Amino acid sequence: MNATSLTPPVAVIGAGTMGIGIAQVAAAAGHPVALYDIDRPAAERAYETLSRRLMRRVDAGKADRDASERLLARIRIAGALTELADSALVIEAVAEKLAIKQNLFRELEEICPADTLFASNTSSLSITAIAAALRHPQRMAGMHFFNPAPLMQLVEIVDGLETSAQTRERLNRLALQWGKRPVHCRSTPGFIVNRVARPFYAETLRALEEQIADAATLDAVLRDAGGFAMGPLQLTDLIGQDVNFAVTQSVFHAFFNDTRFTPSLVQQERVAAGHLGRKSGRGFYRYGDDADAPQASYAAAAHAGPLARVTLHGDWSPLADFAALLTENAASVKQPGQTSPLATIDDVTFMLTNGQSASQVAENTGTPVVLFDLSADYRRADTLVISCAAQNNPQDNAKVIQFLQSLGKRVITLPDYPGLLVMRTVAMLVNEALDVVNKGIASAADTDNAMRFGVNYPRGPLAWGQALGWKHILATLENLQRFYQEERYRPLPLLRRYAAGHALPPSGAES
Ligand code: NAD
Repeated sequence: MNATSLTPPVAVIGAGTMGIGIAQVAAAAGHPVALYDIDRPAAERAYETLSRRLMRRVDAGKADRDASERLLARIRIAGALTELADSALVIEAVAEKLAIKQNLFRELEEICPADTLFASNTSSLSITAIAAALRHPQRMAGMHFFNPAPLMQLVEIVDGLETSAQTRERLNRLALQWGKRPVHCRSTPGFIVNRVARPFYAETLRALEEQIADAATLDAVLRDAGGFAMGPLQLTDLIGQDVNFAVTQSVFHAFFNDTRFTPSLVQQERVAAGHLGRKSGRGFYRYGDDADAPQASYAAAAHAGPLARVTLHGDWSPLADFAALLTENAASVKQPGQTSPLATIDDVTFMLTNGQSASQVAENTGTPVVLFDLSADYRRADTLVISCAAQNNPQDNAKVIQFLQSLGKRVITLPDYPGLLVMRTVAMLVNEALDVVNKGIASAADTDNAMRFGVNYPRGPLAWGQALGWKHILATLENLQRFYQEERYRPLPLLRRYAAGHALPPSGAES
C-alpha cells in the first residue's frame, strides 16, 4: 500500500447488500473507491440507492450535504477488473461460492501489483481455501463486515493459514482508520461471531420445540429479563429464517456434525413453509397488513398477604446488583458467608438456576424452591423469570411472585425448565467462547468484543462467565448434560480447567 497516502485507492467487488455498504465505509474515510459488479446495472442501481439514502439524510438534517456529495464523488463504477490495477486493497463481496471467489482473485493476481492486499468478506468459506488459489496467499485475509456495514462497528480480520503478519496489520490499521473495531481470528468455521452465537438461537428454538412458552414470552425472557437487545425469534425473523438456518447448517457440517451445533427442526419447518420472517411477511410473527403483536405471558398480580421476610445467605458478589435490589427492600437482611448465593423468601428457597430443575433442588433441600433466571442487569431489567418446584404449594409461589412484583418487576413463570432460558444460553455461549480461546482462534478480549460489537450482546461471554464464576457455568452444563443425556451440553476443556483453578482466566475481556 502506498505508504505516503493514508487513503489509497480501494476496490470493492460485488455491489450487493454488503459491497455497497463497504464502498460507503471506505469512501466516508476518504478513499477513492472503484466499485465493480459482474452485473454493471446492479452496481449502478446500488450507487443510485446509496445516493438517494444519503440525500434523504441530508434533507432530514442528519448529514452534511458537502460531506455526502464528496463521499459519493469518491465512488466510481468500474466496467472491468482491469480498471482495478491501481488499488492498494481489493475487498470482494460477491456470491458465497468458493470457485467464484477463487477465480476472481486468480484473475486479480494477474492485474494488481504484488503489494495490493486482497480481502474477502465471506461469512462461511475458508479463507485458507480461497487464498489457496493465489501464487502469493500471504497477501490475502478475511475482512468480515457485519450488516449494515456502515453502522456495525465490528470487523473480523481473518487469517488464512498463509496470511502474513504484515497483511493482517495493514488491514487492522485500515479498519481502525475507518472507525471500526477490528478483532483477529484464525479461519475456522463461523469465525468468532457466527460460531459463538449459535446457542443464542439454538436454546430458544429448543425451548419453543419443548413447548416451554410461546414465541413472544421466550423472546421477552432473553430481551426484557436477560438484557439482550432482541429476542432470538424476533432476531431470526429479521435476519431471515432461511439465512439463519443456512448459517447453522454450514457451521454444523463444517464441525463434522458436532451435536452442539445441531440445527433446529422447528426452524427448518418455518423455512419449508416459506415463513422466512419479515421479508416474507411471516416468520415466528406476522408482519405487514395482518401483523400481530403477541404479548408475553406474565404472572398476574399476586396477593399472598403481608410481604415476605427475605434473607440473603452466602456470597452474593457474583450477583451483586440483584443482591442490592433485594436488600433495598426493608424486609431483607443479609447473612454473608462463603457459600453460593442463596435467599430465603419466608421459608421458600430462592436461587439462581444451576441447570437442575426446581423440583430436583426441592428434593434435596426439603423446602419449597423457586429458581430465578440470569440477567445481564437485574436492576435495569423490567422482567424477572422464575420456575417453581412441583412440590411447592401455590401459596409459596404466590409469595415469591408478590415479593418480586413489589420490586417493580414483571414476572414470567416458566414451567420447571432446567437451566431456565437465559442461564443455559449464557452457559453455552461461555463454553463456546472458551473453546475459541482454547484453540487459539482468537484472544479472550477479541472474542468478547466480537460478541459485544458484532451482535450487541450486553456483556462479552467470557467477562460474564468470569463474573458469575466458572464453577457455576460448569455446574449448569453438567446438570443439563445429565438431564438431557446429550453431548450438546458437554463442558469443553478450558471451562473445566478454569473451574478447577488450573488455568489463569482471561484478563481484560471487556474493553
Ligand atoms: P448479494 O447477493 O447482495 O450481492 C452479491 C453481488 O455480487 C451481486 O450484485 C452480484 O451481481 C455480484 N457478483 C456475483 N458474482 C460476481 C463476480 N464473479 N464478479 C463480480 N460481481 C459478482 O450478496 P451479499 O449479501 O452482499 O453478500 C456478499 C458476500 O458477503 C458473501 O460472501 C456473503 O457471505 C458475505 N456477507 C454477507 C452478509 C449479509 O448479511 N448479507 C454479512 C456478512 C458477509
